[in-house]
Amino acid sequence: MAAYKIIDHTYDVVVVGAGGAGLRATMGMGQAGFKTACITKVFPTRSHTVAAQGGIGASLGNMAEDNWKWHMYDTVKGSDWLGDQDAIEYMCREAVPAVHELEHFGVPFSRTPEGKIYQRPFGGHMSNFGEKPVERACAAADRTGHAILHTLYQQCLKHECEFFIEYFALDLIMENGVCRGVVAWNLDDGTLHRFRAHKVVLATGGYGRAFFSCTSAHTCTGDGHGLVARAGLPLQDMEFVQFHPTGIYGSGCLITEGARGEGGYVTNSAGERFMERYAPSAKDLASRDVVSRAMTMEIREGRGVGKENDHIFLHLEHLGAETLELRLPGISETAKIFAGVDVTKQPIPVLPTVHYNMGGIPTNLYGEVLRPTADNPDATVEGLMAIGEAACVSVHGANRLGTNSLLDIVVFGRAAALRAADTLKPGTTHKPLPKDGSELAVSRFDRLRNANGSLSTSEIRLAMQKTMQMDAAVFRTSKSLAEGCAKMDQVAGTLSQIKVNDRSTVWNSDLAEALELENLMDCALATIVSAEARHESRGAHAHEDFPNRDDVEWQKHSLATVEGGKVKLGYRPVHTYTLTDEVEYIKPQKRVY
Ligand SMILES: Cc1cc2nc3c(=O)[nH]c(=O)nc-3n(C[C@H](O)[C@H](O)[C@H](O)COP(=O)(O)OP(=O)(O)OC[C@H]3O[C@@H](n4cnc5c(N)ncnc54)[C@H](O)[C@@H]3O)c2cc1C
Repeated sequence: MAAYKIIDHTYDVVVVGAGGAGLRATMGMGQAGFKTACITKVFPTRSHTVAAQGGIGASLGNMAEDNWKWHMYDTVKGSDWLGDQDAIEYMCREAVPAVHELEHFGVPFSRTPEGKIYQRPFGGHMSNFGEKPVERACAAADRTGHAILHTLYQQCLKHECEFFIEYFALDLIMENGVCRGVVAWNLDDGTLHRFRAHKVVLATGGYGRAFFSCTSAHTCTGDGHGLVARAGLPLQDMEFVQFHPTGIYGSGCLITEGARGEGGYVTNSAGERFMERYAPSAKDLASRDVVSRAMTMEIREGRGVGKENDHIFLHLEHLGAETLELRLPGISETAKIFAGVDVTKQPIPVLPTVHYNMGGIPTNLYGEVLRPTADNPDATVEGLMAIGEAACVSVHGANRLGTNSLLDIVVFGRAAALRAADTLKPGTTHKPLPKDGSELAVSRFDRLRNANGSLSTSEIRLAMQKTMQMDAAVFRTSKSLAEGCAKMDQVAGTLSQIKVNDRSTVWNSDLAEALELENLMDCALATIVSAEARHESRGAHAHEDFPNRDDVEWQKHSLATVEGGKVKLGYRPVHTYTLTDEVEYIKPQKRVY
């Protein structure tokens, strides 16, 4: 192995990722007096959070009466009773101060005529325990994530947090089960860096790129998941992948649910507003899995639109040019560029597209990573935290409601910083790092850099993405999942034949993509194997051979440990209790729409 020069750094806390979750945590750590570094492979404001359009959920009640308990009820119901109710209570209760805090930090929210934060309805958000839709999504036009991300970055700079921008985290430094730091590669000059820290916070986002069609950025490659898997820790509930009903046909670009919140609706080839049949009360604002499944049913039954009857129309024309310009300017532009459609005159061709990963690195509501054991399903890993889409708290359970992710990232980014302040003193002395601490990272880096097989990264990646799209998408059957597992086993096997052409260490995107592919592969394997094993339908996991939810056998979290391309499954109980006695545990109910 080539000798690599490694540059050492010491911090109280290192945050990996500079999306909304990473920046909120970084800022909070800085505020608490910790010497904090934030490592990110892209410039902070280019993180995927920037693309979030529709809004952030909070029961402010600015447009109609609202209550955090109703928000909690909707979130538990949306999660199809797989969410941990203590964490859901925490998130929905903290939503109101969290949004006010963002407002005070300077997020330019849209306003009501009286000057309050503007709120729009969103799928699954109802008033009075499911009675009728309520305006709960706080929005900065249709660029809410953009506004939040830029504001949080400014706040981080104010608190003098240090940024390591275009640094790629390779692997964790673990010693006797404790996380001691992280090794990263500086993409710009090719140097390797060893960060020693009392706490490492993973905020690396989702892994949409394991699928062929997705709304997420090319950087959403499950790197944090890979780091955790290689440290021998499990990933939780990976079978739950959310499809957004309205990705633009062909490109996958997202048309926010806010479009339906403003009054948009979908039709089939007969021009029928078919959601009235599938969800008579919520209609086009039913939760995403319901709308995605209804659209897929229409297409499968031959009522899709277009030459090949393989997509659906989303109508906004009736809203009028003025509303579209005021409330949905971003998607009007996206529809023009990616579908060649003028939304004031024509419907947008849309298709269900991978949008969000409910599963991820299991944590408690403080953001501490879990390593469940037989005696203690909630045992934690010292020194390691995870937040945002990379984590599974789990507030979204089997299905996330729109606007609850922007909320999740700010609430739990903040919670991680509060927990660190409670458990660690700034400036605490460090033990020396173990001698072989960075070996895993460096040897993997060196192996891939010199990989000389016969298959390119893009060939292996495409085979993985096509398999996942085909066999682990909206409709799942025992046969498709079993075939998918066998195919993924074969595809994962081809990783040993990978070829990296560029041997340099400076801006070697060939190598970066190979490192990302290894991370994606672990995510894909965990997803399809967990899905194959779950013999029920719950939330986003719709299994045609097991169409009902089975709360006796399956109200439990899946745990997938990936080692050498093989997945071992385990389970841990859902938290069927609340955090305080202000609310009671919400018992599973039959699904009625
Ligand atoms: C198109 C779109 C629209 C959405 N709209 C909404 C919405 O309206 N409301 C809502 O609630 N949710 C929405 N979501 C979901 C929500 O935006 C995301 O779940 C959330 O922003 C994820 O934030 P994050 O901080 O966890 O990760 P990200 O924003 O994805 O950030 C990940 C960070 O990790 C860094 N990183 C990753 N790997 C490495 C590595 N190896 N080394 C160093 N750094 C690394 C990246 O550089 C980046 O800074 C939307 C998602 C998409 C894709």
